[in-house]
Amino acid sequence: MTPPIVEARAIHKHFGHLHVLKGVDLRVAEKELVFLIGPSGSGKSTLLRCLNRLEDPSSGSVVVDGIDMLDARTDINKARQRIGMVFQSFNLYPHMTALGNVALALRKVQGMGRAEAEAKAQEALKRVHLADRADHFPLQLSGGQQQRVAIARAIALEPRVMLFDEPTSALDPELVGGVLAVMRELREDGMTMVVVSHEMGFAKAAADRVVFMADGLIVEEGVPGDFFDAPKHARTRAFISQIE
Ligand code: ADP
Ligand code: MG
Repeated sequence: MTPPIVEARAIHKHFGHLHVLKGVDLRVAEKELVFLIGPSGSGKSTLLRCLNRLEDPSSGSVVVDGIDMLDARTDINKARQRIGMVFQSFNLYPHMTALGNVALALRKVQGMGRAEAEAKAQEALKRVHLADRADHFPLQLSGGQQQRVAIARAIALEPRVMLFDEPTSALDPELVGGVLAVMRELREDGMTMVVVSHEMGFAKAAADRVVFMADGLIVEEGVPGDFFDAPKHARTRAFISQIE
């Protein structure tokens, strides 16, 4: 069996007296799409942030693509290049075009020259179907298009895994589909993905596994069919009935 791309073990996270993650284990296989759900405050964002060391876990281990993310000897900036992250807010530079935003990541993070970075950025924009919007500024783009630029920015760096934290939550409903379609294409291209989202239709159509978290613990997980049709735990049932 090939080793997992992401292997988090016994992750605990405390914020002061708040015990937010209480021993979470998460393995993500290559090309797997894991869909992570749970009530607000259950620790989903914190878990994602622990995977790329935007947060330091209080204890536990995180190995991504064979790299020990918690080892002091690990070059964390280099390691993070293997992990793309897309947030609810797109965080694009308003004074830079779509192309400029994507190319900047390549120039800054990978030290690429301008011409090479722009060629690669253009390629990434094509993958999110925005090749024809390359010279538009963020304010000239819809929220959905801005989020697709943010996805292009992440995939241009050729990560081994992509983490999505509620990527469509800030979008008007009519713009959600375009972003989810791009995410499905990414998955079809073989990207390994962890997706926190409330889009259950997407989970049913695209997820390999659904993981349900509550109160800092993984309560239940399964393939989408079993998970949604026959949840085992009362807590899971209550959550699903509430969102559907
Ligand atoms: P979710 O993404 O599932 O809604 P979060 O991971 O954002 O949950 O938050 C889990 C808990 O941790 C919440 O109680 C939240 O208030 C708390 N929390 C998250 N980040 C911080 C922080 N930087 N400092 C203090 N508490 C935090
Ligand atoms: Mg969150």
